[in-house]
Amino acid sequence: MLTMPDKPFRILPRLNADNEFFWTSGADGKLRFRRCQDCGYYIHPATPICPECLSKRIETEVVSGRATLLTFTENHQPWIPGFPTPYVIAIVEMVEQEGLRLTTNIVGVPAEELVIGMPLRVKFESYDDVFIPLFEPELQ
Ligand SMILES: [Zn+2]
Repeated sequence: MLTMPDKPFRILPRLNADNEFFWTSGADGKLRFRRCQDCGYYIHPATPICPECLSKRIETEVVSGRATLLTFTENHQPWIPGFPTPYVIAIVEMVEQEGLRLTTNIVGVPAEELVIGMPLRVKFESYDDVFIPLFEPELQ
């Protein structure tokens, strides 16, 4: 009998100079975004110029890892061979900034228990040097 691997097969992002900080950030359990040092705006996806104030003083900063559930769907279609269904695809919004959103998976809870607006916390799944940010319900 086959045993389930502890984590599913995933199609991983191709790392480049602009996104490597994001996909490797979870190595220390922390999520990071680029942030404008002049106006404080978090920028995702990362761009070399702040879209709010056009500053080029952009640095990478750690965020809390806390988010709220904006919307989700439970996928039953086996789009990716080896990736077990069902799974939850969601858009979450980081608590640091309205509009700072990630498309991700919600793990550790059945879809029936998800509620729009519920608090979530990042949880990383590692594949070599890539750390995929997933979210689970924040313990109250
Ligand atoms: Zn700015």
